[in-house]
Amino acid sequence: MEKFATVRKNLEDHGFTVSEFATAAEAAAYLNGAIDGKTVGFGGSGTLQTMGLYELLSAHNTVYWHWKTEPNAARRAAMDTQVYLSSVNALAETGEMVNIDGAGNRVASTLFGHDMVYLVIGRNKLAEDYDKAVWRARNIAAPHRAQQMGKKTPCAIKADRCYNCKSPDRVCRAMVTLWEPMMIGKTEVVLIDEDLGL
Ligand code: SF4
Repeated sequence: MEKFATVRKNLEDHGFTVSEFATAAEAAAYLNGAIDGKTVGFGGSGTLQTMGLYELLSAHNTVYWHWKTEPNAARRAAMDTQVYLSSVNALAETGEMVNIDGAGNRVASTLFGHDMVYLVIGRNKLAEDYDKAVWRARNIAAPHRAQQMGKKTPCAIKADRCYNCKSPDRVCRAMVTLWEPMMIGKTEVVLIDEDLGL
């Protein structure tokens, strides 16, 4: 796909496996076929939710998602699964992926603990370079997420930008950049030519 040609090449040069799909439905069908009979953890992700992947995969896998069941138990269980799914807050055309987290389970699980990690990313997450990817994660994704969660942070009022707040409700507690797949396990980037997630 022309839109993803540059980022795909750069991700592959960094060692990631990459697949791409025109629609979220096609990507969901692919993942539903690839993941079978496994234990599966989900990170907090509007992309995964929009795609209905929890419902699809739960029919033939054991899936843990803190958005669907008791959060703390699900977060812990999801950290020790064979497969992990998440999105990212931004993907640089140059091949880096940026994620911000509050509880830490999502960024931790993209780094360690699973045989296979799928990062499912809509076209709206693309940024021109690393600095713009960080900017997007901090000024678009995080404020919108804070607003969605009803947090009492300055960014949640208008979701217009990050104010680097000192609020007890701050959702940005850590930021992780994925440069290459971790040494243990495999990471596949699933690119989708639709707007998905924040
Ligand atoms: S640091 Fe605070 S103001 Fe900035 S995006 Fe995160 S929660 Fe919002």
